[in-house]
Amino acid sequence: MGNWTRRGFVGAGLAAATALSARASQMMTAERRAGGGAIKITDLRCAIIGRNPTVRIVTDQGISGYGQAESAKPYLKPMVLFYRDYLIGEDPTDVNRIMLKIRRMGAMKPWGAAVSAIEIALWDIAGQAAGLPVYKLLGGKIHDRVRPYGNSENNSKMTPRTPQDYGELAAEVKSAKEGFTLIKLPVGFHNDAMLNAIPDAWYGQHWTGRMPPYMDRGLLTQPGIDHVVACVEAAKKAAGNEVGIAFDCGPGWTVKDAIRFARAVEPYDVAWLEDLITGDYEPYPNAQVFKEVTESTSTRIHTGEEIYLRENFKDLIEMQAVNVLGPDPEDVGGIAELKWIAEYAHLHGIQVAPHGIFDGLFGVAAQVHLGAVCPQNYIAFEYAKGQPEWWYDIVEGLPDPVVKNGFIDVWDKPGLGVTFNVAAAKTHLNDEDRGFFD
Ligand SMILES: [Mg+2]
Repeated sequence: MGNWTRRGFVGAGLAAATALSARASQMMTAERRAGGGAIKITDLRCAIIGRNPTVRIVTDQGISGYGQAESAKPYLKPMVLFYRDYLIGEDPTDVNRIMLKIRRMGAMKPWGAAVSAIEIALWDIAGQAAGLPVYKLLGGKIHDRVRPYGNSENNSKMTPRTPQDYGELAAEVKSAKEGFTLIKLPVGFHNDAMLNAIPDAWYGQHWTGRMPPYMDRGLLTQPGIDHVVACVEAAKKAAGNEVGIAFDCGPGWTVKDAIRFARAVEPYDVAWLEDLITGDYEPYPNAQVFKEVTESTSTRIHTGEEIYLRENFKDLIEMQAVNVLGPDPEDVGGIAELKWIAEYAHLHGIQVAPHGIFDGLFGVAAQVHLGAVCPQNYIAFEYAKGQPEWWYDIVEGLPDPVVKNGFIDVWDKPGLGVTFNVAAAKTHLNDEDRGFFD
């Protein structure tokens, strides 16, 4: 694949020749387009591969773009196909114009995911058509490498309940082969097994089951809050000072409990406390309440994974209601949308650590291009794995290993730089999705 970064041209021999021939073919494609009119979208398809809704945008010039939504949303297909009529006949390289048409018809998590996956697939096409990596179309690199962070939920089979469990879990994720420099563990209402491990951790009903998730909430008892603090302390001790540690906490805390907890863990210098007040599947941010918590502690406060579009971050950012925002590119409306939010947050002294645990391998690719162009308030993105493991056999273009010593080098291939090995991927299609790659 042609690499026409400065590094690629400076290099001599085969690499340079390959780069030049790839560039020549890109120019020919551009000339063909100039003479033959704009590239046009001919179809929008969606297949559920494994559990990931996978979007393919088909064009009249042999280029397809791919995007992906969370593996937690295998029900998303009809929502993706709803936008088909809005895309047919459009020039996929006019990403902004298409997004103006469809962004109005999305919503907070889980319903922003369809628009988001389409946006990423459009950038994939635009990059391939230009012969440039997506990050170039977003303004070019600031970072040559991006930092993923490890979520314990996709790096361990353990459900932690006790301080001892938390110590073991932090040590396990810290020793993952990726060499993460920052890890995240679930506590409080984000891990009902933990609160239910002691009697009467809070005044309120326990909701069983995971759908809808995180229904438990309420006023914590003294043993309840002591238990959460003890688990944080044990995890921090195991992580040590070499690895940063964040905690996904809710939502569901009362304001005063959130403040007491955040103050109690100040000595442990946690990277952030996530979603104490609202988050996940609550379709609104609660900026005023977050602000009260944030202003009451030196512990960093984080939210944002469920929020759709920049407009819904306005209050959180302008009120400086949190210290760290965690939009998910596969929920917020795409990578250009998240870049805008990251830049506006940067103006207000707020950091960004994008969510993405379930976003699959195309999600990882989107995060790499996004991370490359985010301003200096960028911390890290939540690393997704291909699950099941066969995802690594059906997607081409990722480095192997993807993460080296806690970082991913930003790659230079056109578009997202990853695509399907169609023959291999076809073997994992369901009957109703048989025609996805045809
Ligand atoms: Mg979260």
